[in-house]
Amino acid sequence: LMAIKKVTVAGSGVLGSQIAFQSACSGFDVTVYDINQEAVDKAAERIKGLRHAYRTDIDATDEEFNAGIARLRFTDDLADAVKDADLVIEAIPENPKIKRDFYKKIGNLAPKSAIFTSNSSTLVPSMFAADTGRPKQFLNMHFANQVWLNNTAEIMGSPETDPAIYDEIVAYARQIGMIPIQLKKEQPGYILNSLLIPFLDAAEQLWLKGIADPQMIDRTWIAATGSPFGPFGILDAVGIRTAYNITAAELKDHPELQPIADRLKELLDQGKLGMESGEGFYKY
Ligand code: NAD
Repeated sequence: LMAIKKVTVAGSGVLGSQIAFQSACSGFDVTVYDINQEAVDKAAERIKGLRHAYRTDIDATDEEFNAGIARLRFTDDLADAVKDADLVIEAIPENPKIKRDFYKKIGNLAPKSAIFTSNSSTLVPSMFAADTGRPKQFLNMHFANQVWLNNTAEIMGSPETDPAIYDEIVAYARQIGMIPIQLKKEQPGYILNSLLIPFLDAAEQLWLKGIADPQMIDRTWIAATGSPFGPFGILDAVGIRTAYNITAAELKDHPELQPIADRLKELLDQGKLGMESGEGFYKY
């Protein structure tokens, strides 16, 4: 195995900043790249803001946190960001054109040996494999929000991904404290969302058909399976805005979901965004 030492995280928004810090906190030298100085400054602030969560959620000491911060470097110069990277973790917007342009650029700027991974939630790696100029060294590694706590990394290659490179990314995920969830083939939505989205849709259908109200549907799931949350509690945690966006995206293939989209939209219009706003299906 080629030892990964230098890591570049590209896109320093919600997920990119978390992945960068988790990697730095685990001992890697991490370069954080974003498109301009303003975005990079925002990322530095966002990362500093993680101190409380690392302390309370995973008992990180101030020394450990500060050591992580010290291993980070920030830049808005793409060539400089990737010039000696062993691994580039892409966490830029979920937009195929933006990602395609990005892979074409870094394909030419990064060392030939560098591995690229994508944090894309919905796009499979074969969509971009050719753009990277290194299809054998390209795959998806998909994190969940609050990476230090919800520590899954779904790992999914394209048909062209080299199995040795795949194993190297599995090892990297472990080294940064993730549970590597290994997919054997491409699957849009990976494992988690392939299970979760139909589950949430089914719960919403029961509600809309008037079979039971959200609280009763949740109680059924919680009491019968021992899960801490039911589907509507999960929707509140995910956020009604994201739930609406996912349903709206499904409408093209599943027009029968229109009434669900309408009900979620009503909640949004009432300012009921779920946990983040203090009310969704439940009050917080
Ligand atoms: P975000 O909007 O918070 O951050 C995106 C960042 O990318 C911004 O800082 C933006 O300035 C930067 N950016 C824009 N264009 C760029 C370019 N050409 N090169 C480099 N950086 C660029 O988005 P996010 O929520 O962090 O999502 C990023 C990726 O992670 C998406 O593919 C998304 O599907 C995936 N993801 C998100 C979540 C989540 O819960 N937010 C969870 C798992 C995966």
